[in-house]
Amino acid sequence: MISVRSKALDKEIEINREIGRFGNDKTGPTIIIFAGIHGNEPSGVFALEQIFSSLNKSKPAFRGQLIALAGNSAALAKGERYIEQDLNRIWHAEFIKKMNNGGFSQDEILPDINEQIEIYKQIESIFKTHKPPYYFIDLHTTSAESVPFITLNDTLRNRDFALKFPMPSILGIEEFLSGTMLSFVNELGPIAIGFEAGSHDVLSSIENHISSIWLTLVFAGALDKDQVPDFARHYNSLKSQSNDSKKVFEIRFRHQRTEEENFEMLTGFTNFMPIKKGQHLANNKYGPIYAKESGRMFLPLYQKKGDDGFFIVREIKMFWLKVSSKLRTYNAERLLKYLPGIYLDNCDTHSLRINTKIARWLFLELFHLLGYRHSSSTGKYHYFVRRKFDTVEPEIYTDKYIDASL
Ligand SMILES: [Zn+2]
Repeated sequence: MISVRSKALDKEIEINREIGRFGNDKTGPTIIIFAGIHGNEPSGVFALEQIFSSLNKSKPAFRGQLIALAGNSAALAKGERYIEQDLNRIWHAEFIKKMNNGGFSQDEILPDINEQIEIYKQIESIFKTHKPPYYFIDLHTTSAESVPFITLNDTLRNRDFALKFPMPSILGIEEFLSGTMLSFVNELGPIAIGFEAGSHDVLSSIENHISSIWLTLVFAGALDKDQVPDFARHYNSLKSQSNDSKKVFEIRFRHQRTEEENFEMLTGFTNFMPIKKGQHLANNKYGPIYAKESGRMFLPLYQKKGDDGFFIVREIKMFWLKVSSKLRTYNAERLLKYLPGIYLDNCDTHSLRINTKIARWLFLELFHLLGYRHSSSTGKYHYFVRRKFDTVEPEIYTDKYIDASL
């Protein structure tokens, strides 16, 4: 058991890895919610405590099961993002290899890796003992002030689910943040989305997490709207906080921060704030950092730890989302191999390589529309991988799907 403290509530609670569990029905969805994969983000833990207390009081008829798990419990106990390694950047294919082939050497098992091993075993056991459809939800908060928003890997199933929520969504973050737990889990097949509720230590972040969890239980089919206390209030509260409700954004640019550069974000930026090309955004030891293109500010860094200085995002219009959905439903990617400079990977039919000489921005857009993510580049080629389980959930869950490029 560990003790977790909320500055917003001025309260401390004791939790286990499994924060709570509700429902015993084998016919409905299995909903798995993670809180505190970053230890300085206790908001989700406190939101879940309130959800379970309400469920245990009202005891609604619940289709399926809800399981809530703590993320980095060692870091949660200390109120820090992580102990030695960011637990939300280490879910790579090598981890699975080490888990399955004799494990880690003793000196590799840092506290955060220990957490990862425990979480992996929990997920594995849930897949063995529970039934699909599975929904994975990851609760986060940000260092800067923010309206609540959703992050997701761009599968059509994730997109359909995310668009039920009255919040802006960010697609394709996994191309920029490698090794997130949500991307890893998503590659196994379930619907997986993240809720970013606002800044770390404010009361409204806990309330936003509570609202997003209630909505999840309804949209996943575990509860009816009238079984949720004040469903309309939760929906409207999330909706009223942003002018970009149900808009979808893609990431266009990331400033990767290093320890040595003395990165400092200028004050006053919030998520989704419009910015202009050439605008002064931050400073480092080389001088001012200007916006490379116009768009919206996303995740400006106002804390000491973290690899990402800021991102620039841009809205994808509903028209293009619909085009993309149609193209993918009819497997239009089969036509890609007829375009010049694009080759199918012989070993993996989900992968394409594209000659860098002919790769233009247009191609990147086209690949995104068709459900591919950029996985790596060499001098000669860019590699793209089709996201798996775009339109159908797998029948069997196994870590054999995990892609080497994760
Ligand atoms: Zn986080």
